[in-house]
Amino acid sequence: MPSGIPSIAPRLDAVRPNRFLGALAPDDAALLAPHLRTLWLDRGTVLHEPGGPIEHVYFPHGAMVSMVALMQNGTSVETVTLGRVGVVGSSAALGARRGVGRAIVQLSGAASRLPASQFHALARESKPIRELAIRYNDLLLTQIQQSVACNALHALEARLCRWLLQTRDSIDGDAIPLTQEFLGQMLGVRRTSVTVAARLLQSAGMIRYRRGQIHIVDRAALEDLSCECYGVIRQQIDQVFLGTARGSSA
Ligand SMILES: [Zn+2]
Repeated sequence: MPSGIPSIAPRLDAVRPNRFLGALAPDDAALLAPHLRTLWLDRGTVLHEPGGPIEHVYFPHGAMVSMVALMQNGTSVETVTLGRVGVVGSSAALGARRGVGRAIVQLSGAASRLPASQFHALARESKPIRELAIRYNDLLLTQIQQSVACNALHALEARLCRWLLQTRDSIDGDAIPLTQEFLGQMLGVRRTSVTVAARLLQSAGMIRYRRGQIHIVDRAALEDLSCECYGVIRQQIDQVFLGTARGSSA
């Protein structure tokens, strides 16, 4: 639970900032700054449970957090990945107090957090913070909707490419420390299915897999094989944080 999370350096200079925080004008960033604490989040830390209280709002810098839907038989599937372009508990800005899924840290890393009640108060005080939070919440709904469609309609290999590319963007690196069993949980399929799909990508020279670590070798090829969802979501992210409709041809 979040209560045991140690604090690290209070400045963010050494890490690439969260895009929500980075999109704020200096005056609005200054409103948030006194309330933010920078933390190191360890893998497996649960930030909130379905129906449980949202105590803090988290802005990941290098950590990657998965929102996971849990089934009664113990299976689960990821509904959205929240990394450097995400905010965990963002609905608190609009007064929400309870989480709608499990938010669990999947890749350890830095994040800043502030009390959810404080985020709500600042969103009421500052129109730009409130409007960015509303745009971000719309983005989140769109991402979840895209994820539902992707899980139902797109081939596993294409979904795996999308997931790897989104994770790479979240952590800003080509080395992704995770197991195929974990990948199966995120994609809602058996580990053996992920193994077959990962082997296909590896034999095509796109990734290199060693025990517990996936290296992205050929990002362009992954983008070619990925379903449309990766490009769609990237474009929507840029629209929210840059305020312009940019292409996703990078
Ligand atoms: Zn898709």
